[in-house]
Amino acid sequence: MSPVKDKVLIIGGGVTGLSVAGFLADRFDCLLLEKEDELGGYCRTIYQDGFTWDYSGHFFHFREKWVADYLEARMNAEDIVTSKKRTRVYFRDTYIDYPFQFNIHQLPQPDLLRCLADMHEAQRQDTGRYRNFREMLVARYGASIAELFLIPYTEKQYATSAERLDPAAMGRFFPHVEFSKLLEVLTGRATQPTYNDTFRYHRRGAKGFVDALASYVPSGVIHLGVECGGIDLGEQTVRAGGETLRYDRLVSSVPLPRLLRLCGITFDESVFTANKVLVFNLGFDRPSPRSDHWVYYPDPEQVFYRVGHYDNILGQDRMSLYVEIALPSGAPMKLDALFERTIADLRRCGVIVDHELVSWASVLMDPAYVHVSEASQEAAAKAIESLARRNVFVLGRYGTWAYCSIEDNILSAFNLAQDWGAAGAAAPVLAAAAAG
Ligand SMILES: Cc1cc2nc3c(=O)[nH]c(=O)nc-3n(C[C@H](O)[C@H](O)[C@H](O)COP(=O)(O)OP(=O)(O)OC[C@H]3O[C@@H](n4cnc5c(N)ncnc54)[C@H](O)[C@@H]3O)c2cc1C
Repeated sequence: MSPVKDKVLIIGGGVTGLSVAGFLADRFDCLLLEKEDELGGYCRTIYQDGFTWDYSGHFFHFREKWVADYLEARMNAEDIVTSKKRTRVYFRDTYIDYPFQFNIHQLPQPDLLRCLADMHEAQRQDTGRYRNFREMLVARYGASIAELFLIPYTEKQYATSAERLDPAAMGRFFPHVEFSKLLEVLTGRATQPTYNDTFRYHRRGAKGFVDALASYVPSGVIHLGVECGGIDLGEQTVRAGGETLRYDRLVSSVPLPRLLRLCGITFDESVFTANKVLVFNLGFDRPSPRSDHWVYYPDPEQVFYRVGHYDNILGQDRMSLYVEIALPSGAPMKLDALFERTIADLRRCGVIVDHELVSWASVLMDPAYVHVSEASQEAAAKAIESLARRNVFVLGRYGTWAYCSIEDNILSAFNLAQDWGAAGAAAPVLAAAAAG
C-alpha cells in the first residue's frame, strides 16, 4: 500500500502556483485554486482582432538553462522568438540608447561633462551607506545622471518618491557601475556589461509559457473560478467555492497583505504599499515608424513611463503597442481621459504618425510595482516566517512583496519542492542537464 500523501493546497494559478503544482504533484496530493476563469495571473494574454497582447509586456530572461529547457520542452521551437534587446530612452524630444548611464556620450557635450564630473566626484566620496534609493542613485551615479534620468524614471514608474524605496529595492536588477568601467566603455576600451541582453518570447504571448507550465500539472489538480475566501490557520482549512477544504500544507502566491487578511491576521497596512499600472494595448493599421522593442519615458510631459512594440518583436506589419501608465494605488482613475492623453502623447512623440487605431484593450495591474522599503522587508520576513510555522508557505513576487522575475518565481517553487523532497516534472530535465 502506498503511504497517504500530504494534501497541498495551492492558492493562485499564476506562474508561481503552476510551477509549484508541476514540481510537487508526483509526491503530494495537490489541489490548485485560481479565482479567475483562466490561468496565468499577470502572465495572461489577450487575443483580439488579430493582435496578441499580454497583460503588459512580459519577456522571459533565463539565467538557468534548465528552466528554459523545462519550458521549451513543452513548446514548438518555431513558436519561440529570441531577440537581442533594442531599447531606448525618449529624452528631450529625441532618443538615446538604454541604459542611460552607458550612453551619456549621446547627450549634448555640457551634459556629458557634468555627468562625468558628478559621477567621478560622487564615487570618490561614496561611503556605501544609503538611507534610501534616491541617496544610492546620487552617491553611485552622481547628481546629473541621477537627476536627468534615474530619479525621474524611478519615481514615474513606481508612482512614489525614490526616498520611499530601499537602496536595494530592485536587487540584482539594478547593477552597480564603477566610474572607471564607464570610462572604458565610453572610450571603446571595453564593451558595455550586459544585463538581460536577450529575451525570449512566444508567438502566442506569455500564455505560451503559461501553457507549458500548466502542461506539467496532472489533470484534476487545477480548479478555475474558485476563490479562496478565508483561511483557518488553527483548523488548517480554507473556505472556497462554498466548501471547506482541509490541507496539510498551503502554498500561496496571493499578494501578502491580502493573504494576511484572508488568515485574519492584523498588520500595519501602511507598510505594504505599491503602485498600480494601467496598460493600454493598442493595435494600428500599419507598421511602426521605429524599430525599438520598448522605450522608456522619464519626462512627466508624457503620461506613460514605457511603451513597447510587439510588432517589432514578432516581425508583424501592423503596429501593436503596450503603453504602461503608473498611478498611486488608491488614486482615482479616469480611463477615458487617460486614453485620450495617451493617444495625444504618442502622436507628439512621433510614435503615431498617420496610423489609424483599429483595436484596443486596457488592463489594470494592482498591485504592480511594490514599494520595497526597510519596513516592508522586515514586516514581510516576519509574516512569512510565522505563516511557515503554521504550514502556510508563501512564494512569488506579490506573495513575498518583492521585486523579482518570472524565472525567480519558477526557481523559488523548485527550491520549495526540493526542500520537500520533490522535483516532479523537472527531474528528467535536471538529469539531462547534469549528464551534459
Ligand atoms: C508591468 C509589469 C511588467 C512585468 N514584466 C516582466 C517581464 O518582462 N519579465 C519578468 O520576468 N517579469 C515581469 N513582471 C513580473 C511578473 O509579472 C511576476 O513576477 C509574475 O507574473 C508573478 O507571478 P505569480 O504567479 O507569483 O503572481 P500572479 O501572476 O499575481 O498570480 C497570482 C494568482 O493568484 C490568484 N489569486 C489571487 N487571490 C486569490 C484567491 N483569494 N483565491 C484564488 N486565487 C487567487 C490571481 O488571480 C492570480 O492568478 C512584470 C510585472 C509588471 C507589474
